[in-house]
Amino acid sequence: MPDRYAVIGNPVAHSKSPWIHAQFARATGQDIEYLRIEAPLDGFARTVDELRAAGGRGANVTLPFKEQAFRYCGALSARAQQARAVNTLLLERGAAYGDNTDGAGLLRDLTVNLGRTLAGERVLLMGAGGAAQGVLGPLVASGVARLVIANRTPERARSLAARFPAGPLEVCGYDELAGQSFDLVINATSAGLTGSLPALPDGLFRAGALAYDMLYGSDTAFLAFARAAGAATSDGSGMLVEQAAESFYLWRGVRPATAGVLAALRAA
Ligand code: NAP
Repeated sequence: MPDRYAVIGNPVAHSKSPWIHAQFARATGQDIEYLRIEAPLDGFARTVDELRAAGGRGANVTLPFKEQAFRYCGALSARAQQARAVNTLLLERGAAYGDNTDGAGLLRDLTVNLGRTLAGERVLLMGAGGAAQGVLGPLVASGVARLVIANRTPERARSLAARFPAGPLEVCGYDELAGQSFDLVINATSAGLTGSLPALPDGLFRAGALAYDMLYGSDTAFLAFARAAGAATSDGSGMLVEQAAESFYLWRGVRPATAGVLAALRAA
């Protein structure tokens, strides 16, 4: 019997995680099955309990359950505690153990796949939801010179920034960005899902800047705006594959190679 894992979300039909983990398992010779489970909006804990009762050894957690997963866990990694959100569950020990691999995935994509050096960079993070929550700690720790968070609901950005009082963090409204410029602009909003884009000023991108949209598999209004302004662009496919690799490593103790999987995902 293969060891059982799953991705739990709502909706989850679009998730690429089963395909990615199947590639990792094949390449590393691991005998696993990886399911896609749509939990009822009011039934996350029950769904995890059922997976566990059926022998499930771990799960990825996606929208909108990452904060519920954080509360579900009896033990947490330091990065999950910092994020207050969990995207990876380990179910094989006593209490469920929660981790958050989103930040490690983003940083690995930026620094290894895209070859950027974050230390000293001026960074704008758009959004203050679950994805921003997961990546903020690792971004602060990466040595960026300046890290500005902009969010449609400014209180949410302020409360997120308040968790890192010693960091190089500032909070700014989108309407206050005029006259500021950045080496790296990360879109961690879900605006791209509806084809929209927060109002951004001209002159946002410094020479050599990268615009990174965490949304994957589509050419968003944000990426089009950045391209027109002369910035390099990337969608979030690399982050998706790298955060999955980090989860796989946590579950199986084997670190899968990601370059071929990322290339195949992009080609598809
Ligand atoms: P979330 O918790 O629902 O947060 C959504 C964020 O987007 C909030 O900051 C929200 O602002 C903002 N927003 C939504 N619509 C907006 C609009 N029209 N204009 C301006 N801001 C808007 O979602 P999430 O989990 O953070 O996910 C965000 C995105 O990251 C999604 O597209 C998701 O697919 C992607 N993601 C990718 C990966 C990956 O591996 N590549 C991993 C995680 C997430 P308010 O606070 O004002 O509502």
